[in-house]
Amino acid sequence: MNYTETISDVIRPQYVEQIMDSINRSEKIVITTHLSPDGDALGSSLALYHYLRNKGKNVRLIVPNSFPNFLKWMKGANEVEIFEYNPEAARRILFAADLIFSLDYNISKRVGDMGLSLDASPAKKILIDHHLFPGENFDITVSHPEISSTSELIFRLLFQAGKYDELTQAEAECIYCGMMTDTGGFTYNSSDPEIFEIISLLLRKNIDKDAIYSYVFHNYSEDRFRLLGFTLSQRMEIYPDLHSALIYLSREDQAQFRFSKGDTEGFVNYPLSIRNIIFSTFIREDEGLIKLSFRSQKKFPCNEFAADFFNGGGHLNASGGEFYGKFEDALSTYAAGLKKYEEKLRRAISEL
Ligand code: 5GP
Ligand code: MN
Repeated sequence: MNYTETISDVIRPQYVEQIMDSINRSEKIVITTHLSPDGDALGSSLALYHYLRNKGKNVRLIVPNSFPNFLKWMKGANEVEIFEYNPEAARRILFAADLIFSLDYNISKRVGDMGLSLDASPAKKILIDHHLFPGENFDITVSHPEISSTSELIFRLLFQAGKYDELTQAEAECIYCGMMTDTGGFTYNSSDPEIFEIISLLLRKNIDKDAIYSYVFHNYSEDRFRLLGFTLSQRMEIYPDLHSALIYLSREDQAQFRFSKGDTEGFVNYPLSIRNIIFSTFIREDEGLIKLSFRSQKKFPCNEFAADFFNGGGHLNASGGEFYGKFEDALSTYAAGLKKYEEKLRRAISEL
């Protein structure tokens, strides 16, 4: 069948050619992705991993730190190497590579301590990502902030290279998972009709999209589900005049529910279900730092808020940042920031 007409050449054809050529010339290939890998980070990385494996390459997938249980169903998840567990071994692999892919992050800061080894490696480097402001230390930069997931970019790369027929079911599952998680199950950032053309092409690889949804979103432990209930009932502040909501969890709160990594993933989205709330913030006390997640609706730029007050960034409607200091101070920095953004919040709610 000829599917080419419905999918446009988003990636510059010369980049597709150069990437395929780099792959052909390389033997040892390493794929890397960002700290606390999410569905898109892992989905895009594993899809490319399988593709390269099937081509007979010596390929490794190294992530900075561990990832949540609800992503472990993906084929190859048990082959992922975790930098934090054995930094020396990972450094050697990065150093010996011919080619390194950086997927779903824009700058090496987003891979934490692994960034130094990455920058120091003499390998050729290819970035494929959808965050704003790509860094400069890549040999080929495929940066598309208008595309909602890196997994979609991996699909487009293989598709544009004429490899759709070779795409396996496992690769299609990983790509679908990344597209699904970065759009909240296709509830935001997903109005481009080509997304659904791509889904249609993935379904033709016999993926079970309903099963994938369940693996990811119907996979709470009892503790995690009760922690969600506690957070929404006991740790949520609503600022109706500012159309904003805050949820927050101290380390003590988390301990009560036997918190494990990934347990709060997605919590920040819930307050957006409240009528007239267009800005949701989640402040979580972590080990050694305070992590913030922001989500917004309409044109409210939560990435600007993250950059202005929490040294962070991200997308217009999904961003994050960090705070070093006391938990209470992070909360008051947020409250002060909210006041400063009053005008922008009011404007955003009145726009379409
Ligand atoms: P999440 O809330 O899911 O951790 O992150 C949402 C998005 O915000 C990510 O895709 C990433 O673009 C961005 N982000 C999260 N944390 C940070 C951060 O500390 N710094 C920057 N620049 N961006 C972040
Ligand atoms: Mn992503």
